[in-house]
Amino acid sequence: QAKNAGRNTQRFYDPTMQAALEARAALETDLRLAIKKNQFRLYYQMQVDHSGNVHGAEALIRWQHPQKGLVPPLQFIPLTEETGLIIPIGHWVMETACAQIKRWESDPATRDLQVAVNVSACQFHDSSFVERVIEMLSRHKIKPGNLKLELTESLVLDNVEEAIMKMQALKSYGVLFSMDDFGTGFSSLSYLTKLPLDQLKIDQSFIRNMCMNNRDAVVVQTIIGMANNLGIEVIAEGVESETQREFLEQNKCNLCQGYLFSQPLPVDAFENKLRQMHTYQLSTLIGRE
Ligand code: C2E
Ligand code: MG
Ligand code: MG
Ligand code: MG
Repeated sequence: QAKNAGRNTQRFYDPTMQAALEARAALETDLRLAIKKNQFRLYYQMQVDHSGNVHGAEALIRWQHPQKGLVPPLQFIPLTEETGLIIPIGHWVMETACAQIKRWESDPATRDLQVAVNVSACQFHDSSFVERVIEMLSRHKIKPGNLKLELTESLVLDNVEEAIMKMQALKSYGVLFSMDDFGTGFSSLSYLTKLPLDQLKIDQSFIRNMCMNNRDAVVVQTIIGMANNLGIEVIAEGVESETQREFLEQNKCNLCQGYLFSQPLPVDAFENKLRQMHTYQLSTLIGRE
């Protein structure tokens, strides 16, 4: 038996594994090209209060692939994190979001829109992260309070002291922070009092089930109550139905984001949607992409 096992381990050639490795290498090559060829796009998904006012938008990356079409982030972001490509791509995301904030600041109807940008762990842990963000804020001359960085619990827990220091450094400029996918990280709540957070974002898995499952409802109510008591804004992601929105309003959740209001959209479509919503009279924006 042991002899057989020993012999079997020498049969390392596995066509399935080989194919997967080749696909991965091809994807990596494609991604390097995508940066050069400017194939990434930023989509924006609105964040709305219960009166229908749009407070901001989350910037979400897509890859406009010449053959595959629009590729969603979950199909390429993990590989960019493993290969370090997330650093130049994250740089592009931040750059594009800051330029967009600048354009929106030139119009009274959009000047206070807060744009939320997702930050990967490797980006945040990079030693030049804080400098880079500050450099972009000053080069684009944007209101730092219009930039919100979305971090995850696991990113923060990698090194809580580092997270506090970097967050405080950016906070002193006025940059805002949101804790994304909140409730999924199995983390201790003690760090909540230590981190300079402006917003908790309740993970969509709880929102999805809260109207059918009492336990999810209790988790959602507890997170909202905790945020309210800590004086932190709270937003629900993945809001798809009016029933969910009503439950969130009754339980005093400040903001909602989800397909009920809008899908993530390219800038032009996002602005059209804003114009349609009667609370906004958007004048013609100049110098748009
Ligand atoms: P996330 O930050 O938690 O973003 C929320 C995801 O939920 C987005 O998926 C969004 O399109 C989707 N969503 C929004 N409303 C609804 C809804 O009502 N129902 C459902 N079922 N889904 C909804 P998306 O755009 O595919 O992004 C997936 C993840 O990829 C993001 O999760 C984020 O972790 C990552 N990501 C996206 N853009 C970036 C980026 O620029 N940089 C980095 N580092 N990560 C990004
Ligand atoms: Mg996010
Ligand atoms: Mg999220
Ligand atoms: Mg999520």
